[in-house]
Parts: sequence; C-alpha cells; structure tokens
Amino acid sequence: SHKSVVHNFGAGPCILPRPVLEEAQRGLLDFADTGLSILEVSHRSPPFQRLMDQTEAQVRQLLQVPDTHSVLFLQGGASTQFAAVWYNLMASQVIRDRFPRDQLPTVDYIITGSWSKKAAQEARKLGGKVNIVVDASQNPHTHHSFGGIPPQDDWSFTGPGGRDAAYVYYCDNETVHGVEWDHIPQVSPDTILVCDMSSNIMSRPVDVSRFGVILAGAQKNMGPAGVTLVIIRKDLLVHVDDSVVCPPFPTMLDYQVADANASLYNTPPVFAIYVSHLFNQWMLNHGGVTAMEGFSRQKSGLLYDTIQKSQLYQCPVSTPYRSRMNVVFTLTQPDLQAEFLREAEKRHMVQLKGHRSVGGIRASLYNALPIASVEALVAFMKEFERQYPT
Ligand code: PLP
Repeated sequence: SHKSVVHNFGAGPCILPRPVLEEAQRGLLDFADTGLSILEVSHRSPPFQRLMDQTEAQVRQLLQVPDTHSVLFLQGGASTQFAAVWYNLMASQVIRDRFPRDQLPTVDYIITGSWSKKAAQEARKLGGKVNIVVDASQNPHTHHSFGGIPPQDDWSFTGPGGRDAAYVYYCDNETVHGVEWDHIPQVSPDTILVCDMSSNIMSRPVDVSRFGVILAGAQKNMGPAGVTLVIIRKDLLVHVDDSVVCPPFPTMLDYQVADANASLYNTPPVFAIYVSHLFNQWMLNHGGVTAMEGFSRQKSGLLYDTIQKSQLYQCPVSTPYRSRMNVVFTLTQPDLQAEFLREAEKRHMVQLKGHRSVGGIRASLYNALPIASVEALVAFMKEFERQYPT
C-alpha cells in the first residue's frame, strides 16, 4: 500500500516500527490469548500484571537501570512531571535534611530551549525559588537563540556546581530547537540531577546512577502518547512527614504512591504501556540502545553532511550540540520554504515543518525511522537545490 512508502519525520507522536503496529493490532483483538482486547482486560489481571513486569524489566535492561532506582509508568505526559518533580523533590527527606526547614530551597534550571524553559516556569509558578543557571536563548556566542550550549564558566549555579541547590534540572534534547547535550553537565558530586530525556531516551546508553530523576514522555522514541517514564533514585522517594515544611500536593503526582503501588495506583494507560512494551522488544531485538545510538549517528550524520555541503540549507545549531533526533534547518532563501515542503510532501515525506514557534524545517529521526527515509530526504534536498541554485 502507499502507506508503507510514507516517510514520517514528525517530531511527536513519533513513528513506530511497522511490526510493532501489526502486533498491537493483534493485541487489540486478543491480548495474550485471553480472548479479550488489551483495551478490555483488567489492569489487575495476571496477564496485564505480567506485561507491567516485563515492561519494567525491558526498561531496566535497555537503560541498565541499577537497583538503586525505581522505574515508574505514569500519566499526564512529561509536562505533568515538570510539576511533579518539583513537588516530590521538595518533599524528599534526603533533600530537605540538607536545608533549613523553614524555607523552600532554591532549585537550579539550565535553559537550553523551550522545554527546559517551560519546566523552570512551572516550578516557579508553583512557588519554587528558581535560579536560572544559564539561559541559552541569550547566548552571545551564537546568532540564533537556543543555538547551542554556552560555556560552563559563564553559568551561575547556586553554590559551586549547584551544591547549594535542591537539584539541578536540564533537558537532554530540546525537541523544538534541535539542541542536544553531548555530555552530562558538570555538577558537584552530591548534586541531584534531574533530566528530561523525552526526545532522546533509548537513543544511547545513559549512566542512570548519575541521576536523581529521569523523566520522558514515551511518544518520541519508545512508544505512543499516554505513558510517561520516570526513573527515580529510591532514597529520594522518602518524604518528610511535615505539611508545614512541605506543602501537600495531589496524590496522582506523588512518586512515592506510584512506586508503592508499582504504577497501578489507579487505572494505568493500558494500551500505551502495551505498545511501549512491543517497542521495547523491537529495540532489544535490534541491538538495544547501543545499536540505536549507531543508527542515530548514521542518520543524523547523513543529513548534517548534506546541510554542511549546501548553499541552500543552513543549520542554526552549533556543531557539538546538533541533535541526533531533531535536525533543524532553514533555507537561505526563505521564500522557497513552502515550495520545499510541498515538493517533499509529493514524495511522501511528511511532517517536516518546523515547530510553530520557530519556523524553518525540522526532520525528526527517531529510533523507528529507517535509514532509507533519510536517504530519500537527502536525495530530494540535493535535487531541490539543483532546481533552485542560490
Ligand atoms: N519535553 C520534551 C523534550 C518534549 O519534546 C516534549 C514534547 O512534547 C515535552 C517535554 C512535553 O511532553 P508531553 O507532551 O508528554 O507533556
């Protein structure tokens, strides 16, 4: 069918592997030989329980999650975790014991794009004392706002390396601006790091032990929208028992409750978890996150190379921080952009338009995108440039 030749460069919800969709189709009619749809089966039934256990085991295997950390499957997307992270860490005994009890400690946010900015705004909205360590939208070293990560000597942590902050927050891959970290920010050894990995999770190995909390919506790189992965250091789950010190917050945001109930405090997003499980299996069968990293370098390398060699295409992101996942570029003749997108569309290359807040073109190259799609895009880009020489 024509569908199989559609090249999906959408930034999210992401492309899913074809075999995963086909298997999900079967599970929609008959889940694990129960004769029931995955949409009908009780989330407390043994087959679903097994699915939860297996899905957690897959995440642990893929990301080498150590026993010191809990793996949670939550709802509300990554955006909900922007609030939940702040509440939970303000309530965390390990953290609050380090600070005077009569005031909330400062939290440090590193802003490299619109998602980390939103997370900082959310913490501030809830009453947090938010220190902006650096705001890369005001980067004097790049022409473009959010075009990279400024040198760390220009940053202003709370205490050396964030030592006097409750935690330091950053976003590993900024989906809108195409900015990805190539390292973990250098912080003081006992600083608690919180990281949003929504759009590059499962695309390379991660040293999970370095993080207090990792959060990721599934819908970029490991599943459909509806389930959000949170990995949290277990000692941080113990809360202070004092509502004066820590303002009470909704049960549904409480990681301690989620953990105590193995992510089944309420009805979980059963279908999203099921499809994530199938996607995890697909990744494991294809060499895990190390292989995903290789594919991502191959795919993004092809595209950045083409941009580098052309007069028509330009990438506004400085080289070391160019995202493997979201390749953002502009045309030196901006009036050609609409034509570029139309012509791409004719060749079944879809969802290439940049985020509405920044414009330009964005090709997202998530785990399930075949290399053939990138080869097709690159061939088209060269052809288009020949047609419209600068
Ligand atoms: N963080 C990043 C890096 C994202 O790309 C997104 C995308 O939507 C979000 C957070 C928000 O996630 P959600 O839509 O699941 O709330």
